[in-house]
Amino acid sequence: MKVWFLGTGTSQGIPVIGSTHPVCLSNDQRDKRLRVSVWIQWDDASYIIDCGPDFRQQMLTCQCQKLDGILFTHEHSDHTAGIDDIRPFVFRQGDMPIYAHKRVIESLKKRFDYIFEEEDRYPGAPSVTIHEVDRSNYFTLAGKIVVPILVMHGNLEIFGYRIDDFAYMTDVKFVPDAEAEKLKRVKVLVISALREQPHETHFNLQEALDFIAKVQPERAYLTHISHLMGFHAEVQEKLPKNVFLAYDNLQITV
Ligand SMILES: [Zn+2]
Repeated sequence: MKVWFLGTGTSQGIPVIGSTHPVCLSNDQRDKRLRVSVWIQWDDASYIIDCGPDFRQQMLTCQCQKLDGILFTHEHSDHTAGIDDIRPFVFRQGDMPIYAHKRVIESLKKRFDYIFEEEDRYPGAPSVTIHEVDRSNYFTLAGKIVVPILVMHGNLEIFGYRIDDFAYMTDVKFVPDAEAEKLKRVKVLVISALREQPHETHFNLQEALDFIAKVQPERAYLTHISHLMGFHAEVQEKLPKNVFLAYDNLQITV
């Protein structure tokens, strides 16, 4: 399985518009972070997790030719706002399968009503097929089992996903024990870590490291990173040997 980090930033991205914070002014490419998303490929299959406002730019950068579906973690704009730009894929391939929590689908229907309109559709509108995800049902994508993992983003129930030896969990503040069980023997864990200071709805660095120590994957990658985390090069120095700060366009094999 190949995993391409399309974006590794928190909701505003880095640089933050208008910011003169040193990390926002950094010349290190690894300090430039689009909104979070990953592209996952195996055999002929091609899926992304989340579709934020940088989706178009991300698809152009990774030269993605075909997309078989989108898995959503939750409805916040930094994870969904790019959905209008699925149109080139829809025109070539037909309706785009989307996989999400029932509440996320309801939210998308409200915010992108024209996509879900059944009558008098604008001819150029994107179209999707809906697959509702719930915490207790696995589903299959191109021959692989996908395990939804319910995590808490503050008070919001959101999903992470495990596919074989790979798990992706962003915007995490708390993981119930029964859900953490689903991560047993996972080899590669991607987990969000916002910054060093605590935050109400996100793991900070220490909380993410504690969770990694509990799950014990072979390798872990941190994502959904704020400029307040610091310079990539300096933060990476401080991490345990098997923990890596992800960066945009990092590609790994699982
Ligand atoms: Zn987010």
